[in-house]
Amino acid sequence: MTVLSNFNVRVCILLLCLSLASMITLHFGLGEISQSLSDGKNVNAISLRKGGSIQSHLTHFEGDTTADCKLISVRKYDYCGISVGLGAESIDQGIDLRDYDKIELKLQYSAPLDKAKLKVIFRNYNHLYSNIDDVVSLKYNSIGINPNLYNTTVSIPLNAFQVDNWWAYLYQVGFENSHVDLSNVSSFELITDGMPVPGNYQITLKSAVLKGQIISDIEFLKLMLAVWLLTAIVLISLQHNKMKTLSATDPLTGLYNRRGIRFWVSKFLASPLSNSRLTMYYFDIDDFKKVNDSYGHLTGDELLIRFSQRIKSYLSDEQHNNWAFARLSGDEFSLLCQDIESDQVELFAQQILTILKEPITLGNHQIYVHVSIGIAQADKETYNFEDLMQRADSAMYYAKKSGKNQYKIFNESVSQDIFFRKQTAEKIKNAIIQDQFHLHYMPILNSKTLDIVSVEVLLRCNAESLEGIGPDIFIPIAEEYELIKNIDLWVIEASFKQIAQEATYLAKQPLVFCINISAAELHNPLFSQQLQSLLERYQIDPSRIELEITETSLIETDEMSINTLHEIRSLGIKLALDDFGTGYTAFSQLVNYPVDCLKIDKSFIDHLDSPDQTQATVVKAIIAIAQSYQLTTIAEGIEDVEQYHFLAELGCDMMQGYLFAKPMPWLELKRNLADPEQELRRKSLLPKTATSRLVNY
Ligand code: C2E
Ligand code: CA
Ligand code: CA
Repeated sequence: MTVLSNFNVRVCILLLCLSLASMITLHFGLGEISQSLSDGKNVNAISLRKGGSIQSHLTHFEGDTTADCKLISVRKYDYCGISVGLGAESIDQGIDLRDYDKIELKLQYSAPLDKAKLKVIFRNYNHLYSNIDDVVSLKYNSIGINPNLYNTTVSIPLNAFQVDNWWAYLYQVGFENSHVDLSNVSSFELITDGMPVPGNYQITLKSAVLKGQIISDIEFLKLMLAVWLLTAIVLISLQHNKMKTLSATDPLTGLYNRRGIRFWVSKFLASPLSNSRLTMYYFDIDDFKKVNDSYGHLTGDELLIRFSQRIKSYLSDEQHNNWAFARLSGDEFSLLCQDIESDQVELFAQQILTILKEPITLGNHQIYVHVSIGIAQADKETYNFEDLMQRADSAMYYAKKSGKNQYKIFNESVSQDIFFRKQTAEKIKNAIIQDQFHLHYMPILNSKTLDIVSVEVLLRCNAESLEGIGPDIFIPIAEEYELIKNIDLWVIEASFKQIAQEATYLAKQPLVFCINISAAELHNPLFSQQLQSLLERYQIDPSRIELEITETSLIETDEMSINTLHEIRSLGIKLALDDFGTGYTAFSQLVNYPVDCLKIDKSFIDHLDSPDQTQATVVKAIIAIAQSYQLTTIAEGIEDVEQYHFLAELGCDMMQGYLFAKPMPWLELKRNLADPEQELRRKSLLPKTATSRLVNY
């Protein structure tokens, strides 16, 4: 916008300068034209003109022409002077004076009386009123002047000339031809205008020059006005086009923006010539946030530019012609191709993933850009851009969910999944309204004593419509459809109610309640206040509460989420990083997170016995690092005793899993805690000797 406005201003200034310069040029006569009528190429002859009883002769001296006329006796029409033939010798081929404004005459005149007048005449030929054989028939355009001074310069505007009546009368010229005509002027004359007394009349013509301007003031103004008007129209339409382009362009990459690509696709789909072969590739850069966090936003921006350039150069290398590429937002891009055959759709996506295997070098950094790609093809049912986009987006979401750096094509199963998710979201909404949730509690044990020290609060839904759909499925859907805040708050309040109700029991049997909260809460500015007011309302000792947030929710960490974590901590509540190991937290980053506990993800525990030992090595490292940061460790998903022994040996502080107990209702938990048999069963799992069967792993 600014660039364009500057451009406009520059054009206006330039135009203003040009206008001023032209005006000045005109004003100081630099645009003047002139033509001599007393010598030069236009003059074919200079002769004496006279009528009456006159003795006369013509002399030429140093460019001056002098007519000496002696009037002997006065008659009615005496005249004498100089005639200058113009143009060719033939009288029908004169010169055109219409481009001139005035004639400037330098002359001397003496006569035997004061105030003697002269006449300046232009005689022109036009077949409508003139006759080639009769010189007098040339139209008589004249003006009388009174030179007054002996030696003078007179300037006569050409529009002051008039056609003499005697001439019009003589040749019976109608009104339409009785006006001054200076086209095709065959002679210019300077003669006496009346000779009332006898004596010597002398006319000397020093010079006769026609003067004019390349353009008249009025014409100039008209021209200026036209130029300004034209410029204004051009600028406005340029501005309009530029605005149109700008509003359709992403300023960072120069690609289309969402609006631009929507227009492109809509135009394509509406075109009667378009077949349905339009493929949309929806790219979402994997973990782009991490690039921004690690290298800063400028590098992030540069990476987006380089990413788009790499895709574009691939398209031109492969000679794909009919495509449109857009940056939809942040790290999301969309590529539309018209020329990809159905059997090439996947190959194209594979090739994109391949060209992104090469890292992008930015300064000293080599950054690997991986993308999740969703593919959708326009077909008879895809009527518009939004449909196509939604399909590609859903497929992309699938690719992300399936582990990133891969592509997925929108197909029946994706579409069914979308339908399922939408329906489930509706059911969750109803369950929230009808309060159809309850809580289960899963024991967490001290690994040295196998006493139950905490419980993880797990949500259950008793709505019939959600039968068979566990929280592992409905929680992510609730997050996707932004229903999670209600759920989180419900779980916290229900847990607090339970704790308050069981205050006496819990005083004897102190338990820490581990409550799961969604990543969305880290961006909920009200969360810590809500938490505090619930703590106060139910008189809860905050040291009995631990909140679990998944490690992956911290991938998107920013100042706000870290602040929220600090606020929660300052209430006296503990924090645990759930599903630890599945995210990308560099161990060194742990210092930045105000957490108390790491919960090692079940997937690591499941594969502790894998022959390549990698999972076991990772778990060992996690526990060692957690210890060095003084963080408590919990291993979740323990299903067999070997897993427990192995982890206990490594120094993992707490255990949770089906081996010890499944999630259960509150009353069952109380019964379990009171049951000596259950306690015996638990204690029987304790390692027999200090040296466990580490060797097994
Ligand atoms: P999570 O936070 O990782 O919870 C642990 C899940 O693993 C629970 O499943 C638990 O039953 C299961 N689990 C624990 N030990 C074992 C084991 O030894 N074997 C097996 N097979 N499973 C084990 P659940 O209750 O289905 O919860 C699934 C997920 O749903 C939770 O994963 C959590 O992410 C989410 N969730 C559950 N309740 C809530 C809640 O109240 N609020 C929020 N925001 N999320 C919740
Ligand atoms: Ca959890
Ligand atoms: Ca977990």
